[in-house]
Amino acid sequence: MTLTFLGTGTSGGVPALGCQCEVCRSKNPKDKRLRSAALLESGNTRVLIDCGPDIRQQLMPLPFKPIDGVLVTHIHYDHVAGMDDLRPFCVFGDIHVYANKATEHGLRHTMPYCFTEELYPGVPRLELHVIAPHRSFAIGDLEIMPIQVMHDRLPILGFRVGNFAYITDMKTIGETEMPYLEGVDTLVLNALRWEREHHSHMLVGEAIEFARRVGAESTYFTHMTHEIGFHDDANRQLPVGFQFAYDGLKVNL
Ligand SMILES: [Zn+2]
Ligand SMILES: [Zn+2]
Ligand SMILES: [Zn+2]
Repeated sequence: MTLTFLGTGTSGGVPALGCQCEVCRSKNPKDKRLRSAALLESGNTRVLIDCGPDIRQQLMPLPFKPIDGVLVTHIHYDHVAGMDDLRPFCVFGDIHVYANKATEHGLRHTMPYCFTEELYPGVPRLELHVIAPHRSFAIGDLEIMPIQVMHDRLPILGFRVGNFAYITDMKTIGETEMPYLEGVDTLVLNALRWEREHHSHMLVGEAIEFARRVGAESTYFTHMTHEIGFHDDANRQLPVGFQFAYDGLKVNL
């Protein structure tokens, strides 16, 4: 199984529009962060995790092959705004989208034209599947276990597949979720920036603390702002077993 980070930026992406800081002006491709998304592949199964506004650009360099499912963490724009851009993949059949009840409701509301009785020709054919925490389901070769994390007061989903878990936009987590993370050795976690508390996202310190509770061997951070600093410098400041992911990074799981 492999994971490709398609985007590792926070909701506004890096460079941030209008920002002239040295990170936003950096020429290093690792300092350019599209909105967070990832591709999980195993055998012939390809699953997209989140589908934000940069998805067209993120999928463009990849082989054009079927996407067997889209796992959606939550309804925020930076995680769902690219759904319509999956249209070309309908040549392979309907697109199966997996989301919790609130996100499913949100998608029907934001893209009503995709869910009418008679579809306008050319709209993406999205098939929504409501999933719930702790109820596993399969997509092709992959067995997926949704877990619930809190994004401020909004319950959202993280996903465990084998000994890998992907969690973004988390601030806190209930104790009931911890057993579902037992034995995870590779963890993806959101880490917004180093300092200045945020109401709905973990900072680097909080993310390190949480990853240590899980006991993962390798933790990759995603959903970063420009305040993380230059990728290479920032990575050197992390303890062993932790790294900031970057767009295009491929990890064998
Ligand atoms: Zn987000
Ligand atoms: Zn900046
Ligand atoms: Zn969010």
